[in-house]
Amino acid sequence: MDAKTCLQKLRYVGVLAFATVDGQGAPQIRNISAIHYEPEAMYFFTAKGKDFCRQLLADGRVQILGYTKYKEMIRLSARARPAWEGDQQKWIDTIFEEQPYLSNAYPGDTRRLAGIVFAITDGEIEYFDLGVHPIFRERYTIGSGSITEKGYQITDACIGCGTCAVHCPQQCIEAGTPYQIQQAHCLHCGNCHAVCPVQAVRQRG
Ligand code: SF4
Ligand code: SF4
Repeated sequence: MDAKTCLQKLRYVGVLAFATVDGQGAPQIRNISAIHYEPEAMYFFTAKGKDFCRQLLADGRVQILGYTKYKEMIRLSARARPAWEGDQQKWIDTIFEEQPYLSNAYPGDTRRLAGIVFAITDGEIEYFDLGVHPIFRERYTIGSGSITEKGYQITDACIGCGTCAVHCPQQCIEAGTPYQIQQAHCLHCGNCHAVCPVQAVRQRG
């Protein structure tokens, strides 16, 4: 798996959930399908008058979520910026060509007056496959995005009692000094953290 493949999978999903925060810090989420994909970038259309557009212009942070029929969760965390002014027309036309139904909402030239295209060129992608055993997760970046550490880690305080491994639902803790979590198969459930008698398991991030 890699970032490009994740973006392709999001394209096949089609309708994605886009989450932003409003001026009061409250979460706001909506479905978006007016999207054009490049190998490592995403362009999407919205109307300038929508709250969504105001939130993107004011803050820019966006989280995009897709779920495939194979139980794969793909989450893109990024900052969206208006595409370059000189390219707005091109991206609007591209998105409307790829998604003809949009002309029902914005026929003729109304799309150009109402619309704006945002670009996502940098970000972090989290891939989480619940359809395999053990589960599989991995993180990738596009552009200058960076990876945020999440989940749990076993520190040198580990005394090797093995209690965490017994309670791990994915059997993804390997014996050693210290014991070690196989991050690619970890659910982030926290069982190991809860049962460790010497608090050797720390939360990452
Ligand atoms: S429960 Fe704690 S001390 Fe025991 S093996 Fe796991 S991390 Fe180490
Ligand atoms: S967080 Fe859950 S799945 Fe991950 S290592 Fe700990 S017990 Fe296992």
